[in-house]
Amino acid sequence: MKEYILEGDHPLVLDKMCCDLCKEPFQADDRITLIPKDPVPDDGKTHTVEAVAMHAVCVRWALSAREYTIQFMVLANGISDEHEGEWLVSFEPGPPGSRGVLKTTKKEKEAMCFPSHSAAAEFWRQENGTRADGKPNRPLTVWTVMIEPVGVDLDVEPVDVDGIRSSEGFS
Ligand SMILES: [Zn+2]
Repeated sequence: MKEYILEGDHPLVLDKMCCDLCKEPFQADDRITLIPKDPVPDDGKTHTVEAVAMHAVCVRWALSAREYTIQFMVLANGISDEHEGEWLVSFEPGPPGSRGVLKTTKKEKEAMCFPSHSAAAEFWRQENGTRADGKPNRPLTVWTVMIEPVGVDLDVEPVDVDGIRSSEGFS
């Protein structure tokens, strides 16, 4: 990944352009890299690909191992409750067969993080005793949930940008 140090008189700084990932404006001496807007074509004709500028540190973060959160949606019967749209912070199952104690937050950065999608799914499906009908009691499956990576997704890889035309004033 090629990195550039921004000069104070660079158009990205003067025009107060923002990093595509963290949305913070670029400043002099920031280390940035250029990411193509689309995957580079197989034939290597990279000169037609437009690129956007991002902080190098943001790109490295986006490419590193992702963590996952659990966001509560409506109840499984389609009804919404106070947890809808909020992220899981903690869950204490309590005595077998009970509904347990659930804590959620409106702020994604307070959410409990899981190392993988399947670890989050396993937590959501955890059992606590059996129900009256003999089936496993899975208290959190009362809600439908979304299991998503923390923060933003970077869907293209950084490349060496020789011959890539920048759409944000990099030259
Ligand atoms: Zn950034």
